[in-house]
Amino acid sequence: MLSFISCQQQSAPTSFKLADNVVVAHRGAWKANNLPENSLASLRHAIELNCVGSEFDVRMTADDVLIVAHDADYHDMVIEETNYAELNAVKLSNGEDLPTLEAMLIEGLTDNSGTGMVCEIKPSKTKARGRLIAEKVMALVKSLDASHIMASYISFDYQILKRIIELDPKANTQYLDGSKSPEVLKKDGVSGLDYYLTILKNKPSWINSAKELGISLNAWTVNKAEDLDWLLANEFDFITTNEPELLFERIEASPIQAGWKLVWSDEFSGKGKPDPTKWAYEYGFISNQEEQYYTDSLKNARLENGHLIIEAHQDQIPNPYYKSDAFKDKPWLQYIAEIDTAKYSAARLTTKGLAAWKYGRIEVRAKLPKGVGLWPAVWMLGENRTEVGWPECGEIDIMEHVGFSPDSIFGTVHTMAYNHNRGTQKGKSVSIAQPYDDFHVFAIDWSEEQIDFYLDGTRYYQFKNAQKTSEEWPFDQKFYLILNVAVGGMLGGQQGIDQEIFPQAMQIDYVRVYQKKHKQ
Ligand code: MG
Repeated sequence: MLSFISCQQQSAPTSFKLADNVVVAHRGAWKANNLPENSLASLRHAIELNCVGSEFDVRMTADDVLIVAHDADYHDMVIEETNYAELNAVKLSNGEDLPTLEAMLIEGLTDNSGTGMVCEIKPSKTKARGRLIAEKVMALVKSLDASHIMASYISFDYQILKRIIELDPKANTQYLDGSKSPEVLKKDGVSGLDYYLTILKNKPSWINSAKELGISLNAWTVNKAEDLDWLLANEFDFITTNEPELLFERIEASPIQAGWKLVWSDEFSGKGKPDPTKWAYEYGFISNQEEQYYTDSLKNARLENGHLIIEAHQDQIPNPYYKSDAFKDKPWLQYIAEIDTAKYSAARLTTKGLAAWKYGRIEVRAKLPKGVGLWPAVWMLGENRTEVGWPECGEIDIMEHVGFSPDSIFGTVHTMAYNHNRGTQKGKSVSIAQPYDDFHVFAIDWSEEQIDFYLDGTRYYQFKNAQKTSEEWPFDQKFYLILNVAVGGMLGGQQGIDQEIFPQAMQIDYVRVYQKKHKQ
């Protein structure tokens, strides 16, 4: 009995294990509580938030004291040329001493079950001094027995990282500069990268190669919800932010948290035409009595500032189908043969033939074009459309908007049983604030059981697979995506076309397609 009790007592020491999240508080968690950056207080708050990491910057004074400070100067004193006592005559804004690295690590070793230290060693005035600082940091970590709380060592100075790896081959290191590929880091024994967000957005292939090579992924310093969402979608290991509270919120809202995996996306980085491996054009007049002529001109569709721009213009385009008899068996297209010259141009892009999905979460972040007569849409058609036709193939309208009704969008499904020819389509409109000034996220969650329609993360409509017949539910097959801006037409043109509005663009920030992790 006695030995049983002593055994129980031995098994309950407090232990440190890195928190199971991606949140690295940049210079500690300071912003929300107006604490000084790089302070014991900001580290303490990162620990209270249970961030996986709290970052800080290490420099060395003239008298070789390792301190925590970001800039090379501290209150007009050059840190490397000034003794610690003189620097510390000026306290931090909350009254704290200018923290030494020793004080920082001791704080990290106290009442901390999961917040790792992310220790940035700032480049010094000479490479030799940089190496010396790295050696002193490692010696201090060892003497304090703090290795287990060191989540990673990060630096812009590659030689500093290499010296750390020599001293402790097990130490996690992340390079900050952004110039080296994951392959080079792997070859040099650097265990991760921590790059500026824009570098990663412009080199998305590095994300996959880092994952394949086992190089950890981090990005700095990311403070906007849409950027945090992108890093979460791409399953970064760490995200360095001044907004840890916001990042925790975005984690809760992320499709990844709900078990989805990103399987296809376009962030529309770059310039010029959209990626031809992802998007095809549709041309000319298509249907619905619409008055725009679709082109592949850059004027009508292009990448710009990280967005896909689909822009409608007033135009003069001779119609090759004018007086054509091509539509004699298709009365609903006869209107095309009656147009001598198209008065508007625009673009319609589709993933048809390039990508299609059966079930998933499809998210599109976009800002809408403004004006009576416009009819922008984000929608999907069943892949079997060429065989069975519409509406048998099924249609999912993730977002439709008409310019004469500026305060709402529609989410709709069309099927053999429910479609707009019969006036039986199923869907709902939902009010939207500032659709022309702000980006909004339009999404569906689509499974065997139902299609849920979301605006900015809030579900506003659910279409259930109630009868399980293909007349009502043709949604057990792959669907492709379409993005377009129409002018006029049966729906968009119901109140005419305002001639004063052109040009007008839909701006699309991203398209992301997720599927459940256990499904193809
Ligand atoms: Mg830093």
